[in-house]
Amino acid sequence: MHLKLSDPMTALHSVGEARAALFHKIGIFTVQDLLGHFPRDYDDRSLVKKISELVPGIPQTFRGCISGAPEISFSGKRSIAKAFVKDETGTLSLVWFNQPYLKGSLKASQEYVFTGTPTLKSLKGHGRMLEMASPDFEAFSENMLSAGRIVPIYKSTYKLSQKLLRGFIKAALERCGPLADDLWKCAVISLGLLSRDEAVRNIHFPQSEEAFMKARLRLVFEELFFMQLALLSLKDGLKKPSSFIMSASPEKLLASLPFELTGAQARAIDEIRSDLNSGSLMNRLVQGDVGSGKTAAAMAASFIAIESGRQAAIMAPTETLARQHHESFSKAFEPLGIETFFLAGSQAAAEKRRSLDAIRSGEAQMIVGTHALIQRDVFYRNLGLVITDEQHRFGVNQRFNLQQKGESVHTLVMTATPIPRTLALILYGDLDISIIDEMPPGRQPVDTFHVTSAYRQRIWAFIKKELEKGNQAYIVCPAIEEGEKGCATLQSVEKYYEDLKLFLHPFTLRRLHGKLKQTEKDEIMGGFKSNRIHAIVATTVIEVGINVPNATIMLVENAERFGLAQLHQLRGRVGRGKDKSYCVMISDAAGKASKERLDAMTKSNDGFYLSEMDLKLRGPGDFFGASQHGIPEFKIANLYQDLDILKLAQEFAIKAKEEGGFGADGQILRLLESSVADAGIVL
Ligand code: ADP
Ligand code: MG
Repeated sequence: MHLKLSDPMTALHSVGEARAALFHKIGIFTVQDLLGHFPRDYDDRSLVKKISELVPGIPQTFRGCISGAPEISFSGKRSIAKAFVKDETGTLSLVWFNQPYLKGSLKASQEYVFTGTPTLKSLKGHGRMLEMASPDFEAFSENMLSAGRIVPIYKSTYKLSQKLLRGFIKAALERCGPLADDLWKCAVISLGLLSRDEAVRNIHFPQSEEAFMKARLRLVFEELFFMQLALLSLKDGLKKPSSFIMSASPEKLLASLPFELTGAQARAIDEIRSDLNSGSLMNRLVQGDVGSGKTAAAMAASFIAIESGRQAAIMAPTETLARQHHESFSKAFEPLGIETFFLAGSQAAAEKRRSLDAIRSGEAQMIVGTHALIQRDVFYRNLGLVITDEQHRFGVNQRFNLQQKGESVHTLVMTATPIPRTLALILYGDLDISIIDEMPPGRQPVDTFHVTSAYRQRIWAFIKKELEKGNQAYIVCPAIEEGEKGCATLQSVEKYYEDLKLFLHPFTLRRLHGKLKQTEKDEIMGGFKSNRIHAIVATTVIEVGINVPNATIMLVENAERFGLAQLHQLRGRVGRGKDKSYCVMISDAAGKASKERLDAMTKSNDGFYLSEMDLKLRGPGDFFGASQHGIPEFKIANLYQDLDILKLAQEFAIKAKEEGGFGADGQILRLLESSVADAGIVL
């Protein structure tokens, strides 16, 4: 029977509800999902050897007949199945553990192909002989799936073996007929790409390495091309003319700031200014390392909007951060006669009422808050500018919702997550980008060290010394409670707090993590800011945006558990004041990759450099896999490796769009927009 791509998994032979549920676990619901479940790796088993050609210690494939059904014996609870396999050149011993059913499924009359790693053993009655433990096997035929070819290896789950997956995918490919090709014809022809049908078949069961490369090229191109096309059309949709030109000048505000702008800040503000004045809606990303002074750009933009008669709102991902913004905006705006209103979930009812009323009447011109700003009961009088800070913490929808709170609303997005420049330009193709790549003057680089836990006592003593000087310290642990995440060796906030508290006496140490009530978190952060609390042990809740210039030490425990971008963010919490600051990373991890990562931290304070390193060391799988970056996960493309294809895809997407897209009446573009929004691409 013919299989449709939209058919559920149960349409396949031998897939019932129970097995379908296993597939659901790995995100496969339909035949289309199954065919789109590309291999994560391949095993080249195209060379089938004779037994005499096998060498110990490496995985190899050979062909032979067993001399009799496997014999089952028991060692304690463990069953052992043993058999001998022969060809015309020799004999080899096979063992399997806990697979007693093999007795019935391996037949002496049948020829098999086995894959595994042989080792040289002394066997009673046989002398020295090669033995293979738990080999993969398949009955020999012209058209095998697990041997005699390049064999796909899939991401799978317990109970869904590689063999089963291969079999089901093969069956689906055989039964579903040729796959339709919806990629832009012009690209397929001028780049000499395989058809979609050939590509999908070869990505699962490549005939040769060359066939695999060609299949991959086609599928990577397709994935990136659609992404680029979608970004372009999003950008297009957003470049709506603004009916309202904001031509006010930010000079008055800038003159009142207690510092001179850095060159990079001035440039970013100029770019924002010309956007607001352009007659089109602004859609700009400001990227700048922690402490580079993005807030000043946000203030300038807000001031222009307010002076032009519109409301400005800034949304922060956490209440602590929102309060901090509220404080600095109040400080800057009050002398200019502008009151800054605050809105957050935990606010006292009366204060909240007052803010809501003021936002509705238009009395509130500058509004700072959390996602409370986008709740249904918030009505804006004439919202003209929306700023989101640390955008990667917000979903696309949340930002979009805030923008929907007014008509022709300009958007400014600020992020401290440094994304490698080359990639940012392509990935944020729909946003204009300003980069603040210069630190305010007088900032000293943070001295960074990587030590093992043998140094912990000395570091603690060092922390105490800093506290005695009147400075403050952060300590970051990866877990909240002991034994969390099934890992006994992880330092936890609770346990660490108990140990360090006594040591630091008479100084005040508190703990901070996501399980605490908001009021308690606020109380602790407030205490830390005013130096009533001298040190805090925390999880990464302190990562984003906290500004306490008096803190001079950042101690990170189990530093190997954090990515470079995250470590850099944590380090950015110190080095904000006049005193020399230190970042100490404690890690006993011996792995080369984590060592290189921590070494990079000790060598550089430059977030952009570190993001490039992160990309190189961990690969984009990890770098981009983290949804916090707001970048979609790719099924097959690997941005680091496929940068050239990405550029090509971008070129072709631009061309396709100029020529009126493809498909009837631009329907494909609309379809893409929704799929891109789902994927979480930054608007
Ligand atoms: P971030 O980019 O991390 O949001 P902030 O805007 O919070 O950085 O700025 C960090 C600190 O640097 C703040 O205390 C701010 O007042 C100060 N600052 C910002 N710009 C300058 C400047 N041009 N000169 C001196 N200090 C500055
Ligand atoms: Mg900030």
